[in-house]
Amino acid sequence: MGRSAADRREDLVALYKEARGCTLCPLSESRTQVVFGAGNADADLMFVGEAPGFHEDQQGIPFVGRAGQLLNELLEEQGLVRDDVFIANVLKCRPPENRDPQPDEIETCRPYLERQVELIEPRVICTLGNFATKLLTGAPTGISRVHGEPQERRLGTRTVKLFPIFHPAAGLRTPSVKELLREDFAKLPALLADPVAQPEPESQPEPEPEAAPVEDQLGLFGR
Ligand code: URA
Repeated sequence: MGRSAADRREDLVALYKEARGCTLCPLSESRTQVVFGAGNADADLMFVGEAPGFHEDQQGIPFVGRAGQLLNELLEEQGLVRDDVFIANVLKCRPPENRDPQPDEIETCRPYLERQVELIEPRVICTLGNFATKLLTGAPTGISRVHGEPQERRLGTRTVKLFPIFHPAAGLRTPSVKELLREDFAKLPALLADPVAQPEPESQPEPEPEAAPVEDQLGLFGR
C-alpha cells in the first residue's frame, strides 16, 4: 500500500531541512540560500526548471523573477495557481552569474530531485528547457524536438508522464516560443485527466518457513 500524503509531506520537510545545509558542491559557497522548491507537496503536476537565478537565490523560492511571472500567467490561463503544483529545479543553488549547470553539479544535486519526485508522487512532470528535459528523459534530444509530446517514464518506483516544454525564459526572449509555450500549456488539463498505469508493486520474497519446534520434528509433541 502507498504511504499517506501526511507521511510523504513529513519526509519532504525532512529532505528540505537536509538540503538547506547542503555543502556537497562548491555552489554552497556562492549561494545566498538553497532554493529547495515550493508548492503543494501532494501535487499531481510538478515543474522542474534549471537553477535558481538572482531573485530566487535572494528569496529562497523558485521562479519568482520574470520567468516566474510568465510561468504564473501560463498556469492561470489553464485555471491553475502555484499552490496547485510543486515547482523545483535541477540545481538547488544558483550558479555564479547564472551560468549553465555543470555535469558534476547536476549529478551531485540529482538525488534531491529524485527524492522530491518519489515523495510528491506527481502524475505529470513538466520539464522546463533542456537541462531538466535531458536529465529526466535520460536522452540527449533537445527541447525544440521533444516539446509538447508526453513521454511515459519509470522514475524510481513509479511511472510518470514527462511533458517537456520550453523554459519560460526562452519565451520571454522570443515571442514565437512564448506562443509554443501557450500551446503546450493548453495540453496540460487533458494530460492530467489521463490516468497513468503504475507498475505492480514488487512482490516481497516469501518468508522462510519457521523451523518446526524440535518436538514436532521428532514427532514427539503431544505424546
Ligand atoms: N529559472 C529557473 O530555471 N529556475 C528558477 O527557479 C528561476 C529561473
